[in-house]
Amino acid sequence: MAQVILAESAGFCFGVKIAVDMAKEAGKKYGGAWTDGPIIHNKQVVSFLESLNVKELKENQRLKAGETVLIRSHGVPPKEERRLKEAGVNVIDATCPFVKKVHEKVRQLVKEGYFVVIIGEHGHPEVIGILGHLEEAGGEGIVVSSKEELIKNIPHKRRIGIVAQTTQNEDFFREAVGYIAENTEEVKIFNTICDATSVRQEEVKKLAPKVDVMIIIGGKHSGNTNRLAQISKALNPNTYHIEKADELDKKWFENADKIGVSAGASTPDWIINEVVEKIKEMTG
Ligand code: SF4
Repeated sequence: MAQVILAESAGFCFGVKIAVDMAKEAGKKYGGAWTDGPIIHNKQVVSFLESLNVKELKENQRLKAGETVLIRSHGVPPKEERRLKEAGVNVIDATCPFVKKVHEKVRQLVKEGYFVVIIGEHGHPEVIGILGHLEEAGGEGIVVSSKEELIKNIPHKRRIGIVAQTTQNEDFFREAVGYIAENTEEVKIFNTICDATSVRQEEVKKLAPKVDVMIIIGGKHSGNTNRLAQISKALNPNTYHIEKADELDKKWFENADKIGVSAGASTPDWIINEVVEKIKEMTG
């Protein structure tokens, strides 16, 4: 029988687990809830939540008093949360604690008189939420997403405070910090990058070269799962990206002694378990 090695951190990250649990709870307790965008990039989980009446808001849909909305792990600007509460909407806050930490750090920097630079992606819901907290605190700041922007847009300020979107690329964050530090008298840095993504990637880097076949499980539209599959494929050409167990093909495991399995941060445990069981079944 082939040995199946499951990466230790495969599957839901801490923040997604909280959000999905809260969504399930809202479905049961309030008979359903709305979310402003998908809670998670995983079709199977989304359809499961829809069966509990937890659904995505439609474009221009306005919530009515008494309805329930779940704030996703990305968070929202405080103004938006207030607006919903004032309209009598039942608000469930599933903002990831790591994202809340970025909000806190931004407020602290504003209080201490720093101009704030957010290293992140323009228009991303998490960045929109962070900017909302910056505005609420009465601070000044900008979002920087590329090297060009770094050179073009960083203003000449005496004191600059830096935070990052939680899923930001570590290398670019370091580059940005270095550039700002060279050009500014005083810099205060909070590395607010969450390690959920990098831990999963590091594990795949270690596992993929040691096994005969690598299976990466997760939504085909999930950015973090696709990145895991790319990393794995570069190190082991026998890498297959699947969404669920019925996509497995027995042929992939012919002559395989060791099979590695990992999954994106949006893949639930029950799908991972099904895949592992099916591989074991296929390999005798
Ligand atoms: S990736 Fe990190 S910050 Fe984002 S939801 Fe998961 S644990 Fe929270």
